[in-house]
Amino acid sequence: MQFSEIKGQEKAIHILQCAIANRHLAHAYLFTGPDGIGKKKTALALAQYLNCDAPDETHFTSCGHCPSCLQSECGSHPDLMILEPDGNSIKIEQIRNLLSRVALRNYESRYKIILINDAHLMTEQAANCLLKTLEEPTDNTIFILITAQAQNLPVTILSRCQQIPFHLLPPTQIQEILQQLHPERQSQIGLVTALAQGSVSTAENLLANEEIATARQDFYQLLIQLEKTSAAQIIGWCEQWDKNKKMVKALLELGQLWYHDVLVLHTAERIDLLINQDYLASLKSQAATPQQLLTILQYFQTGLTQLESNASPRLVLEIALLKTQTVCTA
Ligand SMILES: [Zn+2]
Repeated sequence: MQFSEIKGQEKAIHILQCAIANRHLAHAYLFTGPDGIGKKKTALALAQYLNCDAPDETHFTSCGHCPSCLQSECGSHPDLMILEPDGNSIKIEQIRNLLSRVALRNYESRYKIILINDAHLMTEQAANCLLKTLEEPTDNTIFILITAQAQNLPVTILSRCQQIPFHLLPPTQIQEILQQLHPERQSQIGLVTALAQGSVSTAENLLANEEIATARQDFYQLLIQLEKTSAAQIIGWCEQWDKNKKMVKALLELGQLWYHDVLVLHTAERIDLLINQDYLASLKSQAATPQQLLTILQYFQTGLTQLESNASPRLVLEIALLKTQTVCTA
């Protein structure tokens, strides 16, 4: 991984590159910001660069072919340790194991990099155990904690780490990046940008994901026919997404975009503002008052919030659709 492969996080990367240039790297970093915007990639790029045998120090590029780079590229570098949550938390045994490996001397390279993903999921004991090590830093050992929820980390941990914020990208910048990377997918870029909500990796996943494209067609057919669909049919349709949080999230967001488009058509008559340009005729045929549309949009928003607090995905989708149908047939 190279720094140049990470899009839209120039500020965060610049801070790190200045620290490298001034030989002033911190012993512990906290990369904060929403998921899917390049925090982990940046940590991997930093690790690869620091241990590269022949880095280009002017452009902060690792060589890509020394033994260290090759190990980094295939994820088997002995001095790069990545800790992920075990189930819903990071447990004290995991931290203990990790620290015992950190304590071994590193013969192979100059830096030991320890990456802790979703660091806010550390249990209190795990955080306390890590804290002791953070308080007594060792030379050439760098901890990188990654989180989308820094507010859920203990203050003691926060105070030991240098925070580097990562930011969501504005839609125009995501569009530019996608146009460069996938010029052949021009027709889908507007929709994908709207769904990606500031995350380039989400946008790229959406473009690559045929399942979402198919589900979108299917879902929009359901919305078009919603008035004539029975509650039993809605419940039956939702069954296929049982426990599929990722897809239900995408469907709820698609639902918002759909009714938002209907609202834009009914109130502003601005076809150029529509996200679902390919469904223009169907959008026009949707009869609902602006008040009803705002209520429906609220249902989908509530669904997204419930999904975040771990409600059953299928149930959340069912309720949003059943409520929407009630409004549509009122
Ligand atoms: Zn190298």
